[in-house]
Amino acid sequence: MEQKKIAILGATGSIGSQALDLVRRHPDRFSAVCLTANRSSEQLFSLVREFRPVAAGLACAPAEIPEDLRSCAWFFGPDCSVRALEAAGADAALCAITGIAGLDAVWTALDVCGQVLLANKEALVTGGDLVTEKARALNKPLLPVDSEHSAIFQCLQGAAGNPIRRLILTASGGALRDWPKERIDAARVEDVLRHPTWSMGRKITVDCATMVNKGLEVIEAHHLFGMPAEQIDVVVHPQSVIHSMVEFRDGAVLAQLGCPDMRGPIGYAMAYPGRLEYDARRLDFAKIASLQFMEPDLQRFPALGYAIEALRAGGAMPIVLNGANEAAVDAFLHGRIPFGRIAEIIRDALDRVPQRPIRCIADVYQADREARACADEIIRRF
Ligand code: NAD
Ligand code: MG
Repeated sequence: MEQKKIAILGATGSIGSQALDLVRRHPDRFSAVCLTANRSSEQLFSLVREFRPVAAGLACAPAEIPEDLRSCAWFFGPDCSVRALEAAGADAALCAITGIAGLDAVWTALDVCGQVLLANKEALVTGGDLVTEKARALNKPLLPVDSEHSAIFQCLQGAAGNPIRRLILTASGGALRDWPKERIDAARVEDVLRHPTWSMGRKITVDCATMVNKGLEVIEAHHLFGMPAEQIDVVVHPQSVIHSMVEFRDGAVLAQLGCPDMRGPIGYAMAYPGRLEYDARRLDFAKIASLQFMEPDLQRFPALGYAIEALRAGGAMPIVLNGANEAAVDAFLHGRIPFGRIAEIIRDALDRVPQRPIRCIADVYQADREARACADEIIRRF
C-alpha cells in the first residue's frame, strides 16, 4: 500500500497529537510532511525532530530555530499554515486548528491536497456554503473527523440514494449536564474543563459545557450532508457509546458505536477509504448494561437553541454566533466573565449584528469582526 503524505495543521493540539500517534504506529501507511502550531514552539521542535516534515509553521515566530531543524522549510506568522501547506506537497491535510483561525488553511488545503480531513468545525460553520461549493467544484472530499459526523458518514456508506428521514447527533451533555441553572451560570473554569467522557482542547470543552459545540455540529452536519435544520436532531446520551445515527424513511436507524477515543474517527479519515488496524479499547456490552437518552434542555443550555436559530436564519448569522462564542469563551477562560454570560453574549450578537448575504471569504471575516466587536463591548463592561 502506498504511503499517504499528511499535513497536520494544529499538530500540538489534542487532535493533532492523536493523529501523530497514528502516524507513529503506522509508518508504512502515513508520513507527516507538514506540521504547524500556534505558539508551542518547543513542542513543535520535538515533533519536527521526530517526524522530519518537509515544511513546518508557527503562528507566533520563535526567537530561533534549533540548528538541527534548519533543513525543514519554516514559515511564521498568521498565514504559516497556508504557506507551509503550499510548500509541503501533501496528499491529505488534517485541519485541526481551533476556530475561524483555521479557515484560510482549509481553503488552501482544498486547492493543494487531494483530501481534506476536517476537525476544525468552526471553519465549516463560518465558511459554510463557500467551502462546500469549492470542495464540490474541485471534486475533493471533505472527510469528517468530528466523531458524530464520522459516525454519520460511516452509517451512510452503502446508503447511496436511500431516502433519509433525519440525522440524530448524540451529545454527552458536557461537564454541567445535571447542574441546576443557577449553578451553571456561576460554574468555574475547572468545573467546565472536567468533561465526563472525552479529553479535548480547552475551547471545545467549554463549548461542550454550554452545548454550543452541539449547535456548531448541527451546522457542520447541515453542510457536510446537505440536510436542512429540520432534519437534524440532537439527543443527549451520557455514555458517549453511540456516536450518532441516521434514520431512513422506512424507519430503520443505523448507528455507529465505539469507546470514546478520537483516534477512531481520526484514523478512519486518515485511512479512508480503508480502515486501520488499531488496538482500540473494545466495547463490553455486558459491562455497559444500559444506554440512556434524553432531550436536550434548552432552558439550561439556551446556546444550543441559538445555534439552530442561526442555521435557520443563514447568511451571516452562523458566523456571528461563532465569532461571539470564540470571544466569549476566550474571556471566560481568562476569568473575565462568568460562565453564564457566554450564552448572553451570543444572544446579544445575534440580535445586534446586521444580517447580510455572504458571497465571499471577505464577507465571512467582516461578519466575524462585527460579532467580536459586539461581544467585546459587553466583555469590557465586566
Ligand atoms: P487544541 O486547542 O488542543 O489544539 C489546537 C491546535 O491548533 C494546537 O496545535 C494549536 O497550536 C494550533 N493552532 C491554533 N491556532 C493556530 C494558528 N493560528 N496557526 C496554526 N496553528 C494554530 O484543540 P483540539 O481539541 O485539538 O481541537 C481542534 C479542532 O478540532 C477544533 O476545531 C475542535 O472543535 C475540533 N474537534 C476536536 C475534538 C477533540 O477531541 N479534541 C473532537 C472533535 C472536533
Ligand atoms: Mg463532536
